[in-house]
Amino acid sequence: MHPLKKENPEARRSREGRGALMMLVLLVVALLAAAGFKALSLLPGDWTEGSREAPVRPEPVAPAPTPAPEVAAPGPDLVSEPEAVDERPYDLNDQAIAALEEGRFDQAIEWLEEAAAARPDVPTFGANLGEAYLRRARAAEGGADTAIDDFESALDWIDDPERRAQVETLLERSRRVRDEERDFVVEPTLHFTFRYDGSREGLSAGVDRLKVLLEETYQEFGERFGRRPVEAGEGRIEVILYDAAGFDKVTGLGDWAGGVFDGRIRVPVEDLRTELRFARVKSVLRHETAHAFTHSIGGAKVPAWLNEGVAQWLEEPARRASDVGVARARLATVALFPLERLNGNLVGWEDRAEVARAYDQALAFVDHLVVQYGPDLVFSMIGACREGGVEGAAAHFKGRTLVDLEAVLGDLADSLPR
Ligand SMILES: [Zn+2]
Repeated sequence: MHPLKKENPEARRSREGRGALMMLVLLVVALLAAAGFKALSLLPGDWTEGSREAPVRPEPVAPAPTPAPEVAAPGPDLVSEPEAVDERPYDLNDQAIAALEEGRFDQAIEWLEEAAAARPDVPTFGANLGEAYLRRARAAEGGADTAIDDFESALDWIDDPERRAQVETLLERSRRVRDEERDFVVEPTLHFTFRYDGSREGLSAGVDRLKVLLEETYQEFGERFGRRPVEAGEGRIEVILYDAAGFDKVTGLGDWAGGVFDGRIRVPVEDLRTELRFARVKSVLRHETAHAFTHSIGGAKVPAWLNEGVAQWLEEPARRASDVGVARARLATVALFPLERLNGNLVGWEDRAEVARAYDQALAFVDHLVVQYGPDLVFSMIGACREGGVEGAAAHFKGRTLVDLEAVLGDLADSLPR
């Protein structure tokens, strides 16, 4: 048994020669892990939180096992002239990695700045610093404009061209968001922060009604999901209302998307003065608020069928039966997708008809599960995804019922009107 050794300067020095290659490997790993946050333009309500990739560690390989003393032949000492190496930058780097894992970005950046300044010849320190800036940018609260400086700093330190391209895309989007929201009023309620262009005619009276409505929704969802994110210590849920052009500029989604949740609820609102439009925005906001609760409880890996199914199921209770009926009727003439196809994000799907089918199936399946097994079991599957990822929901369901979710999907197919 050989415990991992604390890094010492000699070992560190001998490994630095391999630093460049190791960096490349690490960046590839980080890129793969970060694939989930590439697409920040979203389909309606799809969540693409940045994945939380492991920080770039300077020495990811375990130290080579030391031969056991009894078999090690005493040989000449090959390590020549031990010379004093300043340990501090390495220690700072280690501490910064730990801080990053705990989300203490400010502290990590401070330590990595010092390490990188002390040892500009160790590329790992700079790479980690770039990564730290990037993470702080992506975790920024209070609007993307606060992240612009961090994205720019990240670019000062990140060399990998593909990674740089990702950061530049994020930076460009942050600038667009900042420009679009520059003059928005900010109006907090108990559990939400509303941002919108206060000079737009006919909007503020409607927004006042939306505030009341979303506060009611928050209480309703708190009961339903069994968790209240703000009371659990998270920030208020942000709701940003744009005109159609602004929404397109920020999300790149044009005018067909009803809304989006990407950590913040973003919704295009043309006018709230007619009841029809108000009702439409209301159901979009309830849908996106459901995503906010789902994300708060289940994290970023809740399967799309559950995430979108629950959000649609909660959109408008008075309309639910007819929505489900319509979805079931449309599904009756097509083959259902296997569940595994509906686990990942629907963002990458090109075929709009298939996307519509996926949403229909998500709603019909969640409703079927609620009818057969009760809402509490369905909603508790969301929490199971936080630890268990997309498989967590299925494992949780089987643990409670001894039934495979795929079998229930078969029941749904059999129950459709043929
Ligand atoms: Zn959605």
